[in-house]
Amino acid sequence: HRPADAEGPADGHHPADAGGPAPDPCPAERLLRRRLDEALTRAAAQQPCWPHPERAHAVVEQLHRADPIVAPEETARLSDRLASVARGEAFVLQGGDCAETFVDNTESHLRANLRLLLRMAAVLTRVGGLPVVTIARMAGQYAKPRSNAVDELGLPVYRGDIVNSAEPTLAARTPDPQRMLRAHAHASGAMDVVRGFGAGGVYVSHELLLLDYERTGLWADASGPEPRLASGLAHFLWVGERTRQLDGAHVAFAELLSNPIGLKIGPSVTPELAVEYVERLDPHRTPGRLTLVSRMGHRLVRDVLPPIVEKVKASGHQVIWQCDPMHGNTRQSANGYKTRHFDHVLDEIAGFFEVHRGLGTHPGGIHVEVTGEDVTECLGGASAIAETDLPARYRTACDPRLNAEQSGELAARVAELLGG
Ligand code: PEP
Ligand code: MN
Repeated sequence: HRPADAEGPADGHHPADAGGPAPDPCPAERLLRRRLDEALTRAAAQQPCWPHPERAHAVVEQLHRADPIVAPEETARLSDRLASVARGEAFVLQGGDCAETFVDNTESHLRANLRLLLRMAAVLTRVGGLPVVTIARMAGQYAKPRSNAVDELGLPVYRGDIVNSAEPTLAARTPDPQRMLRAHAHASGAMDVVRGFGAGGVYVSHELLLLDYERTGLWADASGPEPRLASGLAHFLWVGERTRQLDGAHVAFAELLSNPIGLKIGPSVTPELAVEYVERLDPHRTPGRLTLVSRMGHRLVRDVLPPIVEKVKASGHQVIWQCDPMHGNTRQSANGYKTRHFDHVLDEIAGFFEVHRGLGTHPGGIHVEVTGEDVTECLGGASAIAETDLPARYRTACDPRLNAEQSGELAARVAELLGG
């Protein structure tokens, strides 16, 4: 079945209205459509203000007719594997670029990142002693949440290639809905590379952020405990730290998906709020349905995470605990680069393992920003990258990534923690 579509107000804070309803839906589909409508009329943070909403509507219509990026049976297989992670029998490695870009959507870049992920997974399996489920941030990781709506020049901020261009001119920064079509085509091409890579089960994921994109490619899925919508845009989708408002559109949307989903949780999340999220997003207590991605920063993780884990554990839900050691450890270097230190990244993961070992819960995975290329974006590691080295090969479109060497070193250290 083609998707339930939503109708909602079309201003800058709500996704574009895509037109009339599809013909003759069955009752489950009608219910899903109503719930999707309801989700999409809620306030949505971090959405672009399309200058011509009617053009965005036309693009959404076109995207409804586009081929899916992923196949439902692949997503079902990932759900099974994530259930084994939630039971403590496997480990998740999720990683890739902070922001994919159209120019870097090349076979060589994609293959370098895939090769790196598989090398990391091999170390984790061999030394860590658990099967590894590898999920790439790839084939759709084009939308970025930003702290400010305008940059230091007063221009609309870059929101990822799916929305606008990073080039600092007003024309380039003006949100262009046609970019959603280009993003879809690029994602489809990237997925071909993932499949051609052959390694078997590199699943793809991206942040569930740009709702005019995410609302397309949805199918009614009756295979689970309640009728839900399957997204054909990725196997796994996560809600970010800036869009996890309990009454907002993103959480309501994620609730409707049958795909396995993630939720980033930063240090402001209380144990009570964590349990509210878990009850909303995993109402049927499905092991591995929900991944809680903690990104607390290395200084706070040992204090903030334990009461959250205890309270969620006591609720009886079998979530996956995943550590994002990147986003709580970002800082500005003296020479003006957004960076992270390898030691802080490793220390947050060490703290995450200490917390879970202490509470008897499974440290289920890591979520990292990495690239197979030899960039100089993060500090430290075996090559001791210093602030003065950053300008040499600082290439990221958004956040700083660990390079191939730093990532390999990280995997080896995490594998020791996992096996120890
Ligand atoms: C990201 O994963 O790139 C991101 C924006 O993370 P967070 O939502 O945790 O800040
Ligand atoms: Mn990032």
